[in-house]
Parts: sequence; structure tokens; C-alpha cells
Amino acid sequence: MILDPATWLYPTPEGLFCAPGGFYIDPTRPVDRAVITHGHADHARPGNNAVMATAQTLDIMQVRYGERAGNSLQALDYGESISINGVEVGMAPAGHILGAAQVVIDWKGYRAVISGDYKRAFDPTCASFEVVKCNLFITEATFGLPVFVHENAGAEAARLTASLAASPHRTHLLGVYGLGKCQRMISLLRSAGYEKPIYLHGALQGLCDYYSSQGVELGQLCPFTDVQAEDLDGQLVLCPPGAIADRWSRRISDPLTAFASGWMRVRARARQRGAEFPIIVSDHADWPELLQTMADVEADEIWVTHGREDALLHQISAMGLKGRALALVGFEDEGE
Ligand SMILES: [Zn+2]
Ligand SMILES: [Zn+2]
Repeated sequence: MILDPATWLYPTPEGLFCAPGGFYIDPTRPVDRAVITHGHADHARPGNNAVMATAQTLDIMQVRYGERAGNSLQALDYGESISINGVEVGMAPAGHILGAAQVVIDWKGYRAVISGDYKRAFDPTCASFEVVKCNLFITEATFGLPVFVHENAGAEAARLTASLAASPHRTHLLGVYGLGKCQRMISLLRSAGYEKPIYLHGALQGLCDYYSSQGVELGQLCPFTDVQAEDLDGQLVLCPPGAIADRWSRRISDPLTAFASGWMRVRARARQRGAEFPIIVSDHADWPELLQTMADVEADEIWVTHGREDALLHQISAMGLKGRALALVGFEDEGE
């Protein structure tokens, strides 16, 4: 007889809790024992006591939080597992950003997999998503509507390099989130043949350095502060989304503003962002990838943590599976 997973793995005000293991997955408030899927600020928060994550996620948390990353940090590599109070906990690549993991929990012959954020599309800046068959799959649903079908990321980057070539005197200012999207865009632009130096807003430097130290090829990156305004003609400058419209960008005369996000599919969002040149590149599964993954893991039950759950729950029941909306709060999708 199989224990109903809802009796031992459930949402609490602190976040998703594994009761027999005594740990929380991606807690939104400080807890004694946290297992973290990846470094985005809505999943990895400072102030926990014991923190378990991949070594890269722990590094990223330390880059961002310093001492507040946690009192005791324990790294668990992809494919490794460890017993916490009799519950086996393992990590599998999620394909989302560097270090991102799905958390695999085995207890009394039952396997639950918590996806964290994930995507199936190729991304040279992180390990590819691995299918882990399980009884219960807990999925994100950021883009959980049939209208969300992402563009090919390489083709999106090529549109930007074409624009740089076509407007050799216009500075291109590209807004990107600092963890994941920034490095993936740089890598995509390099693959599309863009070899010139790329100028970085200071806030993006630290995590680019970290990615480079982990063997991710980003080419020549230069601090924006080092360059004279007249030398910016026709160059590419990357900055956090909020910097596009602030004082910082006034040094650039008449920039062409671009913004890279899965949300750029939605015209109203692109307008709201003031992006003249929306680039649809996402680090989350789109609708076809969500459906593919739900089929691939062969679970009997699928729960949806955060995002758009209605259409997905309908799909889950159409697949003959048991579905449930956890509606966890506090996930604002930092990386997208
Ligand atoms: Zn994320
Ligand atoms: Zn998320």
C-alpha cells in the first residue's frame, strides 16, 4: 500500500516541506534545513541554517549573499544522493541555469521529483535537463498556456547580430537578468558569430566572471565604465532590465533598446518594458515542453507549484493522471 504523498510532502507557510526528512524545498522564509533547486532569488533566499544544493548553486548563493548564504552549506552533485533522516535526496540537471537541479526524493519505495524551474531547449551555459521517472512530478508552470511556444533562441540571437550589422553607428542596449539570461544571451551571440567585445553594466560582471570560471565561454567582456561615450557607436551593451530607463543609460545617445525574456512573446509586456527590439528567449519550459516532460517522467500524479496552472491541470486530467495546484506563493520569476 502506497502512502498518499500529500501526507508527507506538503505546502506550509515556509514553503514545500518533506515531513519525514525535516527539510523544505526552496523555502520562502528562513528555515533550519533547506534544499535549494537553483540560485534565482525567488528560489534561493538568504538566512537558512543548513543548506543543501549543487556546488554551483551554493557558489552563486555565496556570490550574491556572502555569509548569509547559510550557516552550513552542503554540496550534492548531479547523480549523487544522500540520506536525510531516512529520506534519500538526489539532484538531477534541470537545464534552467548553471547549477540548476531537480530534487529527487525517495522514501519508502516512492519517488517524488521537484522540477524547480526547467527547460528542455539546448543551452550551452548549463547541463541539459534529465528525465527522471517518478511516481510524483512537481512541475513549475511559468509558461503553462498553449499560446506560449518559445522561438528558437539561436535565431533570436541572430536577429540581434543582424541588427548590429545593419546599424553600425547605433549602440544596442540589451536588458537581461543577471543570472542565467545574461550569460546565455552572450553565449548565443557568440555562437551566432558576434566576436566583438561586449560591454557590461557593473551589476552583471560578478556572475559573468563566475560562469567563465566554470568553463562557460563568453568571449571578451569589458566594463561599461571603461569606455568613452564616442567609442560606443555600434557596440553592444548589456545591462539589468531596470537600467535601460534610468540615469545610467543617458551616456548612450539614441540607443536601440532590446530586452530578452520569454515574456517578450506578449506584446503588451514588450511595450511596458519600453523594448524597441523584443527578443523571445526563455529559460523556462514552454507549453509543448511542459507536456512532453509530463509524459516523459511517467508519473501517476503531477502537482503544479507556481505559474499558470489551470490549463495544465486540465491537461493532466486529460492524461488520466491525478493533478493538484500547490499555488505556492513568493515565486516571482527572477530569471525571466
Ligand atoms: Zn529560476
Ligand atoms: Zn521559478
